[in-house]
Amino acid sequence: MKKYQMFVNGKWVDAKSGKTMKVINPGNEEVAAEVPAADVEDVREAVKAARNAFDSGIWSRLEQKKRSELMLRVVDGLIAKQNELAELESLSSGATLRKSTMIDAPLAVEHFRHFAELAYKKDLYEPLPWINFPSVSWNFVVREPIGVAGQIIPWNFPLLMAVWKIAPALAAGNCVILKPASYTPLTALELAKIIEEAGIPAGVVNVVTGSGGIVGEELASNPMVDKVALTGSTVVGRRVMELASKTVKKVTLELGGKSANIILADAIIDEAVDGALFGTFLHAGQVCESGTRLLVDEKIYDKFMDKLIARAKGIKVGYQMDYETTMGPVVSATQRETVEGYIKAGLDEKAKLVIGGKRPADMKKGFFVEPTIFVDVKNSMKIAQEEIFGPVLAVIKFKTVEEAIKIANDSMYGLAGGVWSTDLPRAIEVAKAIRTGTVWINDYHLINAIAPFGGYKQSGIGRELGAYGFDEYTQAKHIHVAVAPRKAKFWYDLLLD
Ligand code: NAD
Repeated sequence: MKKYQMFVNGKWVDAKSGKTMKVINPGNEEVAAEVPAADVEDVREAVKAARNAFDSGIWSRLEQKKRSELMLRVVDGLIAKQNELAELESLSSGATLRKSTMIDAPLAVEHFRHFAELAYKKDLYEPLPWINFPSVSWNFVVREPIGVAGQIIPWNFPLLMAVWKIAPALAAGNCVILKPASYTPLTALELAKIIEEAGIPAGVVNVVTGSGGIVGEELASNPMVDKVALTGSTVVGRRVMELASKTVKKVTLELGGKSANIILADAIIDEAVDGALFGTFLHAGQVCESGTRLLVDEKIYDKFMDKLIARAKGIKVGYQMDYETTMGPVVSATQRETVEGYIKAGLDEKAKLVIGGKRPADMKKGFFVEPTIFVDVKNSMKIAQEEIFGPVLAVIKFKTVEEAIKIANDSMYGLAGGVWSTDLPRAIEVAKAIRTGTVWINDYHLINAIAPFGGYKQSGIGRELGAYGFDEYTQAKHIHVAVAPRKAKFWYDLLLD
């Protein structure tokens, strides 16, 4: 079993208390590694390191080109360790090797590269029009880093979420303390190693492992932290916002979802069936933007559902490290209990279970749940309103497009959604009517480095990725330069006459 240390002020250290946490492989329940379990004292040291690094200007005042070059060295490191990272990601998060090699590791490279390039290309100067009143002045805005960012990430995409947090913050000149989820700290620690090897100065990036209640709460509360960014559940988002409010920190929250995937009557059925399954069961449903409410037009319902159920039976549930497996376990025993609780709630509310609902009989170890589909679901049911974060699909039949839009919007969440149709102008109208941060038309889960990602309603505040994600780590400073001669001085006259 490998023992890891955490990365504070450029050094690899244990928790001062010596406490550790075990990382469990969710596919076989064996201990995969051990990491430090930090206390408040450890977090404070990391915050101090980030504060000192930021205030020294070693990173924040480094010229943009140099910052970009150092970040591009991180990209080289990620490329060199791509396979190793993918394996480690699968081992600790339960992601299938297919997903970690085709999605997690390559996107980590691409998204880090996107921000490494933006670090140089992004114009940090925005001219404003000349202002002539009460006298002539030249005005412009400069984008400056926010300072020290506390960053808290979930367990579903541990490496990619670490990149989404660290890369834009660094690109804009901030210093960070990242807290990975307790279940999945390993790839974030490997990323810290790559960052160290790339020559990014000590204190600029710190990775502290430990529980949300201790490390996360301290990051959200510590007065030396200027911004807190969380990807996680809406419940934790509310708590982080509350703690951050005491020192009025800037906050970015990427929270939960219960996205609607709408199949219109003119959709290409075979494509929509595959899209609906991919949209739900990728990573055993543990994806925030999953299309877990499937709304199907009654005119094609029977034909669509026959195909959907037949295709769903082809999903190969198994150990995530076997390349043949297409759906692995959920991340923990607790998460499996939560999912099973929702399956029971669906049955109690008289939704009809058409496939799954159980643990696979042939998997004696590991936290597995069968791909599960409920039909005859009403949008008011618990399984349609709450985020399950497991392989459970709730299917709802609709009569008109207006009804589908109404159902899609009847949710406290607003993260994403899908529309399947061959009538693109109409599909775009539907996409515009859905109150979410992303809508895919005839596609699902396609996240791109240049496109903003984030939530409406209780799915969050702010955006990640693209120039939008970069801007979340900057603040705008207005500089006003009076240009002589002063034509009107009546404002001064208010005081001086
Ligand atoms: P979680 O909210 O339980 O935990 C997220 C992180 O917050 C973890 O690092 C955890 O240790 C920490 N945390 C827990 N309690 C805390 C507290 N009191 N103060 C500060 N930090 C605390 O979420 P999870 O179970 O790890 O991940 C699943 C959730 O994340 C789902 O709701 C999912 O939708 C969401 N998610 C959202 C996005 C997005 O971009 N919108 C992406 C991935 C996951």
